[in-house]
Amino acid sequence: MRLVVLGGGESGVGTAILGKKKGYEVFVSDYGEIKNNYKEVLILNQIPWEEKQHTEELILNADVVMKSPGIPDKSNIVKQLKNNNVPIISEIEFASQFNDFVTIGITGSNGKTTTTMLTHHLLKQGGMNIGIAGNIGKSYAWQVAENKFEAYVLELSSFQLDGIVNFRPHIAVMTNISPDHLDRYNYDYDLYIAAKFRITKNQTEDDYFIYDDDDEAIVKWLSENEIKAKKIPFSLVKKIEEGAYADEKNITTHINNDEFIMPINELALEGKHNVKNAMAATTVAQLMRIRKETIRESLSNFQGVEHRLEKVLKIQNVQYINDSKATNVNATFFALDSMNTPTVWIVGGVDKGNDYSELMPLVREKVKGIICLGVDNSKIMKAFEDVVDVMIETTSMTDAVKIAQRMAEKGDTVLLSPACASFDLFENYEDRGKQFKNAVQNL
Ligand code: ADP
Repeated sequence: MRLVVLGGGESGVGTAILGKKKGYEVFVSDYGEIKNNYKEVLILNQIPWEEKQHTEELILNADVVMKSPGIPDKSNIVKQLKNNNVPIISEIEFASQFNDFVTIGITGSNGKTTTTMLTHHLLKQGGMNIGIAGNIGKSYAWQVAENKFEAYVLELSSFQLDGIVNFRPHIAVMTNISPDHLDRYNYDYDLYIAAKFRITKNQTEDDYFIYDDDDEAIVKWLSENEIKAKKIPFSLVKKIEEGAYADEKNITTHINNDEFIMPINELALEGKHNVKNAMAATTVAQLMRIRKETIRESLSNFQGVEHRLEKVLKIQNVQYINDSKATNVNATFFALDSMNTPTVWIVGGVDKGNDYSELMPLVREKVKGIICLGVDNSKIMKAFEDVVDVMIETTSMTDAVKIAQRMAEKGDTVLLSPACASFDLFENYEDRGKQFKNAVQNL
């Protein structure tokens, strides 16, 4: 069998290694440049590769193609493969053929990384030999090739789910759905929702589907479609008999006639959205029969995730918070919602068709000044001009942070939560977050 891997990054090289180990004839093709460390791995494993081109004769004769998530369906080579009826799958699909272990798949528009890392933490503290992969960390296929773990938690984007055929998570989690990446789905929200729900498509009656019962798009889809897995809801607003819910004080879960109560003020992560993430992770942990004391302890000692409402420093009693990963309006909504003190808000970047109206009440209530950090800030300026007194534009992170320091008074918070992508001024959201933290440290 000939396996062609499109893309020579982490998931591509991982897939190539697993393919080689399983006896495939493997070829890796990258239209850009392959990083030196990956080239070394390919050479060491005697896997042929090319870069800066796609040689059709070497690609179109594949029995199966693994396409890395970054390569768009619109690209020429993908179109040609489709014309030739060559099956195109994702890394997750390829690797899961060789993984008989317990698999937990986590998807949603926001909260995937946080929930995946928190779930992994709970299960690992509970004594499971569990790996973490997907959109996060080391390639899933690579880890399956190394055969180190007895179970996996996978963070799954809609792109990865687009490329699955038989992939079946024993436990699937849907954190929430709000419009994002619509450019990849012909600007059709229903197509994007359907892509997310592919996570359930191969599940059986023995499997579980954990979801946010307060989320309109999820509830609507579930009312119109059948799934085989057992449904376990979680909610912030209503009592749930079999599943999880939270009131002002506690998270309560009922799973298999077993009750668990966790005080919200003991959670390591702050904010309503993190109560939801904690409910999802706790439900998984209970299904995996992790001891309650361990769940409780792990929920309260979780370290948090960089760039997600990350507390950077307190300077002259002003708290600086890095939420650079908030690349859409919904994520920023929860960031602003969790602010307890007057906030200087640094926002802006590449607009993804944002509608800022849902932020209005929060901005009116909490934000004392806005610093627009982007090449084109006109939409943000227009949206909030009547809501806040002070609005300043800049294209420099250092200046943004210095201006924020001047605006903030003792007891205030300075929040970077851009609600936009980062590509106008930064390499990616990590670069944006790191620059913010450096600027704060230099104050
Ligand atoms: P993802 O991996 O889905 O992008 P992250 O965990 O990286 O999600 O979080 C992305 C952004 O969304 C961060 O700004 C974070 O604070 C916010 N966020 C986290 N969990 C949720 C949630 N359940 N609902 C809405 N926003 C969330």
